[in-house]
Amino acid sequence: MASNSWQQSLKTALSGKGSERLDKHPQYNPDAARLFAPVISPQMDQQIDWTDDNDPLLRQFIPAKDELIDATSLSHDPVGDVAATQATGVIHKYHGRVLLIASGSCAVNCRYCFRRHFAYGQQYAPRHNWQAAINYLAGDNSIHEVILSGGDPLTLQDDTLQGLTTQLEDIHHIKTLRFHSRIPVVMPERIDQSWQQWTRKLSLNKVMVLHINHAGELSPAAGHAIAQLRQAGFTLLNQSVLLKGVNDSAQALAELSHALFRHRIMPYYLHQFDRVSNAGHFEVPQNQAHDIYQQLRQLLPGYLLPKWVQEIPGELAKTPLSG
Ligand SMILES: *Cc1c(COP(=O)(O)O)cnc(C)c1O
Ligand code: SF4
Repeated sequence: MASNSWQQSLKTALSGKGSERLDKHPQYNPDAARLFAPVISPQMDQQIDWTDDNDPLLRQFIPAKDELIDATSLSHDPVGDVAATQATGVIHKYHGRVLLIASGSCAVNCRYCFRRHFAYGQQYAPRHNWQAAINYLAGDNSIHEVILSGGDPLTLQDDTLQGLTTQLEDIHHIKTLRFHSRIPVVMPERIDQSWQQWTRKLSLNKVMVLHINHAGELSPAAGHAIAQLRQAGFTLLNQSVLLKGVNDSAQALAELSHALFRHRIMPYYLHQFDRVSNAGHFEVPQNQAHDIYQQLRQLLPGYLLPKWVQEIPGELAKTPLSG
C-alpha cells in the first residue's frame, strides 16, 4: 500500500542510503561521519543542488572535516537538558509547558544539532510506554501544553502517537498539543492519509512548529504536506537556527520568511546557535548576528520577523537577544 511509503523512506534514510551522492562528495569526511552518523532523507537528496559546493542544504547534512575540531569552550549539553529531565523522557523547564522526548531518531541528521551528543537511547519516553511521562503530566495541573519533540516525533507510527494523544486528551488541564518536527519538510510523504485521519479528530489545540532554515528546503512536495497540516487544523510556526554558510544574511532570512508566509507558516524563533561540540564552524558570532538581525528588521513587516533568541540553561524562558 502507498501508505507504507514513508516507513520505507525513513528506513532508507536511517540506514545511511538516503543519498547515493553524499558519501562521494569531495567534502564528505569519513571521520566526521563516525562521530555522528550521516542521515539524509530521499527528499533532501533531491532538493540539494549537487553542482554547488556551497549549497546551503548540503552544508546542513554533509559530515565535514571541520567537525573534527572540538573546541573546549563548546559543550556536549549546551542547553542543560540533562539537568532538567524530570521523569524518563520528560523535560519540564518552562512554566505550563512540558517537552516530551518522544523519539530518539530523525529523518535527517543535521550536523549542527545538539542532539549529536545526547544519550537519547536511554531517555526517550516510548521505551517506557509513556506511562512515567503520563503520570507526571497528570499530576501537575499547571501543565497546559505538551510538546512532542525528540529526535523527531513524526518518526513514530501513527498508532503509537495516537495511543499517547488519546491519554493526553483525558487529562483535563492539557489543552494544547505541539509537535516540533522537521519531517513535513524533509520527508513530506509522512503526512499521508493515515496521519490526516487521526490528527483531524484530535480535540486538543494543535500546533506544528516546523524547522526550516532556508527557503530552498520548501519543495512542492513539502508545500503539499503543509497544506494537509493546515487542513487538519494545525497552527503552523517555524523555528530556524542561524547558521554560518546556510542562512547568515538578512537577504536569505528575509527570503525564508516570505517563503514561509506563502505557505501560511508564521516565523517564530531564530535561534542563536547552541554552542555544541564538533559544530563550532556553524556559529555566527553574536555581534555579527546582531547586525544581520538589525538589517532583517528593516526588510520585513513585523509579523514576519522571527524572535531572535537563545536558550540559556537555568532561565525560565528563551532569552530574547534583541528587543
Ligand atoms: C523551547 C522549549 C520549550 C518551548 O518554549 P516556547 O517558548 O513555548 O516555544 C519548552 N521546553 C523546552 C525544554 C524548550 O527548550
Ligand atoms: S533534532 Fe532536529 S535539528 Fe536535530 S538532527 Fe533531528 S531534525 Fe535535525
